[in-house]
Amino acid sequence: MDALRLMTTRRNVVRGIAATAASFAFPSPSRAQSVARIVVIGGGFGGAACARALRKINPKLQVTLVEPNRTFTACPFSNEVIAGLRSIEAQQFGYERIAADGLNVIALAATKIDPQGRTVGLTDGTSLAYDRLVLAPGIDLNFDALPGYDETTAAKMPHAWKAGEQTMLLRAQLEAMEDGGVVALAVPAAPYRCPPAPYERASLIAHYLKQKKPRSKVLILDAKDAFSQQRLFENAWKELYGGMIERISLSQGGRVVSVEPATNTLVTDFGNYDAQVANVIPPQRAGRIASLAGAADHTGWCPIDPVTFVSRLVPDIHVIGDAAIGGGIPKSASAANAEAKACASAIASLIAGKAPAVPKLDGTCYNTVTPGYAFSLSGIYQPRDDIFAEVEGSGFTSPVDASREVRRREADQAESWFKAITVETFG
Ligand code: FAD
Repeated sequence: MDALRLMTTRRNVVRGIAATAASFAFPSPSRAQSVARIVVIGGGFGGAACARALRKINPKLQVTLVEPNRTFTACPFSNEVIAGLRSIEAQQFGYERIAADGLNVIALAATKIDPQGRTVGLTDGTSLAYDRLVLAPGIDLNFDALPGYDETTAAKMPHAWKAGEQTMLLRAQLEAMEDGGVVALAVPAAPYRCPPAPYERASLIAHYLKQKKPRSKVLILDAKDAFSQQRLFENAWKELYGGMIERISLSQGGRVVSVEPATNTLVTDFGNYDAQVANVIPPQRAGRIASLAGAADHTGWCPIDPVTFVSRLVPDIHVIGDAAIGGGIPKSASAANAEAKACASAIASLIAGKAPAVPKLDGTCYNTVTPGYAFSLSGIYQPRDDIFAEVEGSGFTSPVDASREVRRREADQAESWFKAITVETFG
């Protein structure tokens, strides 16, 4: 859909809302059932999948997706872009197919939410009314949490934790670095988006350096002691990269407490590290619109009911994806997709006046350490004691001693997973 048509669609939505707002002030189940208005904020892995699933479950629902970017740039596989193994274009997806499905796609950001009046304010000053709102804004970098690190610093010490410009900046810095340099990664404490991704990134950067700048080194400064799939990563590092990757854990003094952009220095309680390339992944929190809605608590994340995804803090607002927090389910595209479909089903049930089914979410996460060498982690999550917990016996992790053939198969499966999830979400 071209820009003009997107805008026309948006205007129609706003006009439609003005005409029907009064009749929706107190929707009765039967009235709401026929033309309930669902607004979804955020067209990423969670929001776009949820909007599509809602439409599929009940084509009568009036579903509006609010997303300021006309092109979505995916994080999974962006570490390959940083390592020069993939183009950024392979990460990019438009919203044309979603609009063609009959969803209203509004290319603006949501700027405020009035939970009492049930309206969403947009950057152009207009507003949308809703019966139910889905928040899927992903993460924001918490620029208050790491002294010295703010938006300006990020232009020098990239986080590359939102894919796009930042991904390309880190790539360019690696290309410009002289052989013999240190690439340092500052890794935050949990929770943060995609727990194993910093270690996948360290591996793929080492792959690039081994080919092009073999005297260089990767230094991981970590605010944790243990990490996801640690033995698999550490074995692979030994096998593939010799002493090229060094990790300093929390108890060894690895937590970065501040940064000094003028000298590209990472400061810990035990010493300072100067890097030629500094990839600073700061602490994170739910996308800002979640706190503007009152849905984020003191942790910065949004507590939810695990059956309906309804916010524990604000009525009629559901939260999915990285912004939500509700137990052990990791913040991943895979989980966001599963949450999106379960949330859509819960919303359709609530609108129909039925009890929502208890969700069963499965997620798989692949980590690639060199081309053709990957391993994975998967699990099934269900509500238990009001939060998501892994179903006993459902967890799978690739064996530590698997053959290269198994690793190759998992690398192929990772590619297939990415293709499937992006086609389901955007294609
Ligand atoms: P997003 O996908 O980030 O989408 C949020 C959307 O909301 C964005 O498009 C944003 O523009 C929009 N938005 C924000 N604020 C507003 C607003 N005010 N108004 C309107 N729209 C708004 N996961 C995996 O499962 N497998 C992997 O291999 C994997 N690899 C990763 C590698 C890296 C390097 C990183 C950083 C992450 C990786 N992830 C992976 C994690 C995955 O990218 C996220 O968990 C996933 O994107 C979360 O989906 P989401 O919908 O919550 O957020």
